[in-house]
Amino acid sequence: MHPGCRPVKMSAVVQRLLKARTVFNALKQHRACMSAAPDPIRQPDIKYAKLFINNEFVDAASGRTFQTINPATGEAICDVAEGDKADVDRAVNAAREAFRLGSPWRRLDASERGRLLNRLADLIERDAGYIASLETLDNGKPYQVAFAADLQLVQKCYRYYAGWANKYHGKTIPIDGDFFTYTRHEPVGVCGQIIPWNFPLLMQAWKLGPALAMGNVVVMKTAEQTPLSALYVAQLAKEAGFPPGVINIVSGFGPTAGAAIAEHMDVDKVAFTGSTEVGKLIPQMAGRSNLKRVTLELGGKSPNIILADANMAEAVEQAHFSLFFNQGQCCCAGTRTFVEEKVYDEFVERSVERAKNRTVGNPFDNVEQGPQVDEEQMGKILSLIDSGRKEGATLCVGGNRVGDRGYFVEPTVFKDVKDNMKIAREEIFGPVMQILKFKNVDELIERANDSEYGLAAGVMSQDIDRVMYIANSLRAGTVWVNCFDVFDAGAPFGGYKMSGNGRELGEYSLELYTEVKTVTMKLLQKNS
Ligand code: NAD
Ligand code: MG
Repeated sequence: MHPGCRPVKMSAVVQRLLKARTVFNALKQHRACMSAAPDPIRQPDIKYAKLFINNEFVDAASGRTFQTINPATGEAICDVAEGDKADVDRAVNAAREAFRLGSPWRRLDASERGRLLNRLADLIERDAGYIASLETLDNGKPYQVAFAADLQLVQKCYRYYAGWANKYHGKTIPIDGDFFTYTRHEPVGVCGQIIPWNFPLLMQAWKLGPALAMGNVVVMKTAEQTPLSALYVAQLAKEAGFPPGVINIVSGFGPTAGAAIAEHMDVDKVAFTGSTEVGKLIPQMAGRSNLKRVTLELGGKSPNIILADANMAEAVEQAHFSLFFNQGQCCCAGTRTFVEEKVYDEFVERSVERAKNRTVGNPFDNVEQGPQVDEEQMGKILSLIDSGRKEGATLCVGGNRVGDRGYFVEPTVFKDVKDNMKIAREEIFGPVMQILKFKNVDELIERANDSEYGLAAGVMSQDIDRVMYIANSLRAGTVWVNCFDVFDAGAPFGGYKMSGNGRELGEYSLELYTEVKTVTMKLLQKNS
């Protein structure tokens, strides 16, 4: 244990998650240093609900507001300023001004940008209990998980990119002739960032971290379902010392505020995370306007492959986690569970038992699963469950809404799922597991790759030859072997095919937030 740390008593929910080989494993080595989750604040004060532009909280130009809803109850939490094109214009102007040559931000040493990012991480750590409570209130994810996973990964992400701020540099290149050539990695400029609701704080960190480390300025649009936590972090960024205009947050809706960013003539880049449907529109909007750079992180229908030799208890737990984590609202969720024929029946039986034991309820209590983010998502999930029934899959457990208050869905497991069923092809984004059977590895690879998506995959087996063969054959941006959802700020993440383009996290994301400038100087004479 590190000096100054105290032993931690973890909640039963977090202990259970640690057993699965998951995102939490990445935190395991540090768990002695993780502060125990303070008690949640069940009714956190909402301090900021206006737009954050030029380091000030301001009303929307139109004066309009919208309600953000607590998905556990269906009741409104508060009114939030609703930004649209006029507010995006205002935010882009502020960002452009902050990016002006000679501005405080442009004059800041790269190492100082790193220091600001570290300070932001420290402030998030200071207020982690409050921020996790806010996230739970607005999104519905269990507080224990928000604190142990989201908040820790967020801090690590800012700290990781703080380290990169003065380390991503150009090269000198020995071109032919009497010339000296070097490259500079310069910021792209005004970055529009449109984020979803499933991991509001973490998506904010994945996007702000590399953008700010590389010296860019940002206009971010949060998801209309979950505007609150990002505004609080914006205030912390101000407290940390980020100059006005460097970070701007516009709450609002996709077709208005989101489209205004994607179509803006003075936005240099847009980074989008969300549905493939909207992901297809973003490059069109960029093309119609100024050909801004576009990076996309979209949907998935990730295969999770269980070979017969896998440790059965671990495979069941890993598959359960890979699907049900975050109420099933993960773009990389292991939604096509392929199980080798020999162990199929046993795997199904144990997975059904596991799903039956999943605790669902008030996300401020010690539960594994909270509500879906909103009524629309709940409705979409229930109608996909219905299609699974109609198309002949066997519903083993679940299938219904829980109660009539809030947007809770029963942990649901289907067996006898066939590749062409809707539930095996479309993103469900809910707690609905599909278990498919396979006979041999070559057939499996073909079927696993037969998807328009290619975000992630999992393989459970002790057979290194088969594991390597499968891992190398899958068309997916991430392959987890004997684990799932192990996220680390250093490991790149992104999709093949219609799961997007570009990679977030790691060194790879820095490319997407820099322009490379080649400078070639004539030398007086060639050295002999
Ligand atoms: P969405 O794609 O509509 O929303 C994501 C973000 O894009 C939000 O900020 C939204 O306001 C914005 N947006 C929407 N329309 C826009 C437009 N025309 N121009 C610019 N921005 C726009 O996703 P959703 O409707 O909230 O969810 C629908 C489905 O998307 C889900 O069921 C799930 O399958 C998928 N999804 C994926 C992710 C992911 O992490 N890849 C996250 C959320 C949702
Ligand atoms: Mg939408």
